[in-house]
Amino acid sequence: MIELREALTLLDGEIRRLPKETVELSFAHQRYLADDATSDVDVPPHRKSLVDGYAVCSADFDGKDISLEVIDEVVAGGWPRTGIGRGQAIRIMTGAAVPTGADAVVMVEQTVTTDDGRVILRGDEVKPMQNLMEKATIMHQGQVVVPSGQWLDAATIGLLAEIGHGQVAVSKRPTVSLVTTGNELVAPSEKPGPGQIRNSNAPMLATSVHEAGARLIGQRHAVDEPDSLREAIADGLSGDVLVLSGGVSAGVLDLVPGELKQQGVQKIFHRVSLKPGKPIWFGVLDTGSHRCLVFGLPGNPVSSLVCFHLFVRRAIHGLMGGSSEFPACESYPLATAFHHRGNRPTWWPARVIRTEGGLSQVEPLEWRGSGDLRALAFAEGWIGFSPGTKSHEAGTQVDFIRR
Ligand code: AMP
Ligand code: MG
Repeated sequence: MIELREALTLLDGEIRRLPKETVELSFAHQRYLADDATSDVDVPPHRKSLVDGYAVCSADFDGKDISLEVIDEVVAGGWPRTGIGRGQAIRIMTGAAVPTGADAVVMVEQTVTTDDGRVILRGDEVKPMQNLMEKATIMHQGQVVVPSGQWLDAATIGLLAEIGHGQVAVSKRPTVSLVTTGNELVAPSEKPGPGQIRNSNAPMLATSVHEAGARLIGQRHAVDEPDSLREAIADGLSGDVLVLSGGVSAGVLDLVPGELKQQGVQKIFHRVSLKPGKPIWFGVLDTGSHRCLVFGLPGNPVSSLVCFHLFVRRAIHGLMGGSSEFPACESYPLATAFHHRGNRPTWWPARVIRTEGGLSQVEPLEWRGSGDLRALAFAEGWIGFSPGTKSHEAGTQVDFIRR
């Protein structure tokens, strides 16, 4: 059994970043940008109005109300046909280019129009540069705006669109196959018979694959028999990552490590000092032309999810070119006194609560171990407890890992 840090280092050593590809911007979501993205425009592209109102010359104002001649109108998407001189104004809409000669915009709400095509403005409200933004204030043409390695979400995708990247280079999405194992498992829509339970890992891990930004290419269930396992594993090894659940512990039907070995998957580690998740198995198939990272997650649902979170997600992000500083801990005071006993570092389901004083604290949830998915489903993360027997008083600072 090895320590978590060592396991993560071994895992990192096996990750080879996937090649990049160019995709339509709308397919770049949840991937890392592979090249620096430069803007091909100034933003804003011209000196623009920030409000609907009148473009004016601030020098016309001396503190008294003033009547100006309205000589034109400019809307967003249009372009001023003329500039203004002293005593003149142009009606302007938000985003439109400010005409030459104007150095301020007065909001329409603060003006009164008259029948003779003039507008009356209050003198005390106009300062130079009021309600306008200079060209290229936000970014300028040629500037690197989104750096290579940036994780792309809705906001960064919007930004890439703004600066002219209808297509972007991103690392390929890893392809992932899932194989759940176990004679006792039935589909979620079936009623379990004697000795049976439902296969909760299959949809849970499939969801985890999507959440991590990878592409699920196959999903199978195998019973604990060599033929069934062999077939499912052979099929699953065609992707970049194969995730198995169950069959890696010490039971008589735990056949997964043996089958993986038979199919040429080289073991990197088996068993990590971690609770839940100790039986985790990790290995690599490398045929020279194809490489597949293989994870045998323990079958208990909470163990499976913790191990996915720690190892598989890290691998998926690494394959896509992301950095892997995880697990990042936050520190919070314990909301309640807690007695913890365990021989391995333990991840205990917990949630963050706010006290009346506005302070955030973490509360360990009632949890019955690795088979208790219910507690985890309503947890926001885990408290990391060190091995040993210890009573922690309320208020003690503890590590919290968000899920
Ligand atoms: P195993 O790792 O195969 O020894 O399984 C450990 C425990 O997790 C057993 O109680 C299994 O019934 C349960 N288990 C295994 N696979 C799943 C699954 N896909 N969904 C729900 N429970 C599972
Ligand atoms: Mg099993």
